[in-house]
Amino acid sequence: MRVMDLESAPALLTIDLDAIAANYRLIRDLAAPARTAAVVKADAYGLGARQVVPVLLDQGARDIFVAHLCEAQDLADLIPSHARLYILGGLARGGEAACAEIGAVPVLNSLGQIAGWRAMAQHLGRTLPGVLQVDSGMNRLGLSAPEVAALADDPDLLAGIDVVLVMSHLACADDGPGPASEGQRAAFDTLTAAWPAAPRALANSAGVFLGEGFRHDLVRPGIALYGGAPLNRGGNPMRPVVRLDTHIVQMRDVPPGAGIGYGLTGAADTQRCIAVIPVGYADGWPRCLGNRGSAWIAGVRVPIVGRVSMDSILLDVTDVDRAVACDGAVVELLGPHQSVDDVAADAGTISYEILTQLGARYARRYLPVDEGNAA
Ligand SMILES: *Cc1c(COP(=O)(O)O)cnc(C)c1O
Repeated sequence: MRVMDLESAPALLTIDLDAIAANYRLIRDLAAPARTAAVVKADAYGLGARQVVPVLLDQGARDIFVAHLCEAQDLADLIPSHARLYILGGLARGGEAACAEIGAVPVLNSLGQIAGWRAMAQHLGRTLPGVLQVDSGMNRLGLSAPEVAALADDPDLLAGIDVVLVMSHLACADDGPGPASEGQRAAFDTLTAAWPAAPRALANSAGVFLGEGFRHDLVRPGIALYGGAPLNRGGNPMRPVVRLDTHIVQMRDVPPGAGIGYGLTGAADTQRCIAVIPVGYADGWPRCLGNRGSAWIAGVRVPIVGRVSMDSILLDVTDVDRAVACDGAVVELLGPHQSVDDVAADAGTISYEILTQLGARYARRYLPVDEGNAA
C-alpha cells in the first residue's frame, strides 16, 4: 500500500517514532542501572518492527526480543553486531540451524529445546549463546523447578551453550504490587541461583513499575514503548504513539423507530443523524464495539450505533453541528480524545490486542524522531 494514500485507504494510521524513542528513554532512565531491552514481537505490536527497531537501537537498546524464528529472520539484517536478537518462544525442533545462521539467541524453555541447541553447538563445533527461561509461577513457558535441578546437577546438559541470560515472566504485574508478583520474584531468585554469573531478567513493562526489586539486570518492556499504560491503575506515564483518523463517507437521516445496520440493532425512538465511516472489524476495530464504543468529531464524542460491519461503522452524529459532521469530515478513532486503552476498555480487552489488530488496509505515516532529543 502506498503511504498517505487517503484517496484509496480507509483511514490514516500515524505512528509517532519520536514518542517511541521518548518512551524508551523514560524506561531506560527509570530502570538504570538495569539495562533496557525492547520487545518488538508481532511486528512491534502492530506498529512496524522494521521502522521501530532502528529507532530503539539508536536510543541505545542492545537487546531486541521477538516471539518466533520467522520474526527474527525478518529483522536479522537490522541488528548490528553489538546487539542481540532473542526469540522468546525458543525453537521448534529443526529450527536450530536457521537460528544459528542468523545469529539469533533462542530463549530455551524446555529440556528438549536445550538438547536441540546443545546438539547444534556440537554439530557446528562452537559455543552458541542461549537464554534459559525458568517458570516462576505463571505456568506458561519455562523450565520447572525439577528441570532446573536436573540442569544444575548435570552441567553437561548445557555443554556448548553460553548462558547469556536467565529470565522468567510475570503473570500479574499489571495489577500493581501484590503477593502473586512477590511470590514469582522469590521463586525466580531461588531458581536462578544455579547460574550466579548470568545476568537476570524478570520484568515486562508493568514489572519495571513494581520497583527496583523487579528490575534485576535487564528489563523487557513492550507495550509501554508503544504508549500503552503499563499498569491497570494509576494513570499512564507513557507518551501516546498512535493516532487513527478516518473520514465520513456518507450522511443520512433516520426517522424515529427505524433500525440501523446489520440486524437492525441500532434503533432510536427519535429522529437520528447517522454518519458512515469506512473502517470495520476487518480493520481490527472490534465487532463487540457495536452499540457500545465511540469515535470523536472535532472534539465531540459520537457513539457507535448498530453493529460494526466488516468495512464500515455507523456513528450517531445527531448532536454534532451539521457544518462539522458532514461528508468528508475527519473522524478520530485513536488520538488525543480516545486512547488505545480507552478503546480496549470499551471492548473489554487490553491495549495489546487493539494495537496488534490494527488493520493492514490503513495508510501509514511515520513521524520521525526529533534529533534534538538526546539519545
Ligand atoms: C511480550 C513479552 C514481554 C513484553 O511484555 P509487555 O507487557 O508488553 O511489556 C516481555 N517478556 C515476555 C516473555 C513476553 O512474552
